[in-house]
Amino acid sequence: MLGTLCVDIGGTKLAAAVCDGEGALSHVFAVDTPADATAAQRVLLDLCEVTADEFRSTGGTLASAGIACGGPLDVHAGVILSPPNLPGWDEVHVRAAVESRIGVRAALRNDADAVVLGATRWGRYAGVRNVVYLTISSGIGAGVVMDGRLITGRSGNSSELGHTVLVVGGRLCACGRSGCAEAYVSGHSIARRAEELISAGVAPTLGRGAPITAKDVYLASSQDRDPVAVRLWDESTRLIGELVANALNTFEPDLVLLGGGVTLAGEQFIEPVRAAAHDAALPGNRQTPVCIIQRPDRAALIGAGAVGIALIDQEYR
Ligand code: BGC
Ligand code: ZN
Repeated sequence: MLGTLCVDIGGTKLAAAVCDGEGALSHVFAVDTPADATAAQRVLLDLCEVTADEFRSTGGTLASAGIACGGPLDVHAGVILSPPNLPGWDEVHVRAAVESRIGVRAALRNDADAVVLGATRWGRYAGVRNVVYLTISSGIGAGVVMDGRLITGRSGNSSELGHTVLVVGGRLCACGRSGCAEAYVSGHSIARRAEELISAGVAPTLGRGAPITAKDVYLASSQDRDPVAVRLWDESTRLIGELVANALNTFEPDLVLLGGGVTLAGEQFIEPVRAAAHDAALPGNRQTPVCIIQRPDRAALIGAGAVGIALIDQEYR
């Protein structure tokens, strides 16, 4: 059996798996991302090796590896360049490291770009020509396919919708700019804003679990009806809706897909986001489907698989 090693480097989780030619995953392994960058890189390579060994021990042959990571990246050199959500990952030659550990050729791509490649290659949205994918995870990222092709920009770092400004002069983003979408409504920022409300003594129900996550906010909002959590969740989904409307108006896609940890809230996430997006978008974009991606928990690994398989396609073309 032939497979591609899929590697997903996230601010919250590191994951690896093997993907077959149909986008099906096996041998999935994941760990929390260690805070220390050097330790995290060591764990990542161990994870790749364990996954590859497990697959090979069942008789499988690895043909390539695809690595998905938040930007900025040098995709041509396979180097990670100080992403906002991976502190300490400065100039990490991850492609070379994975290649030498596993012994197959690897390709590195932005995580959201990888997801949109996977989503338009396999499954429910295969072949859709114009798709915007937004990840609402530790950071906010985007991958855009137009006329069936991934938009890459000059160097593979395009479509950074998370670093477009929603509030001029607003909260400081990890990228250095003020008021970015990511500074308000990434999973990390929703959690930080909740913590600020707790410190100010205005969100008693929210204070139960420590450390706070975006999931705590939506649970406190939906189950406890904590008024502060309700307000924070409503405001967050509205802002995400505004971001989706910007994407609808900019790209006029056939479809907008959302993924990342925050979308695991399901209907309580997508309904208000869709309503706000359609409300704010130009009239021609108010009917465009806005949906949560299939298997949001696996989409990044499947995307990494698509990146690895594209490498084989090119090789044999
Ligand atoms: C990065 C993006 C990435 C996103 C999700 C953002 O901070 O700028 O490149 O896609 O986080 O990881
Ligand atoms: Zn930013």
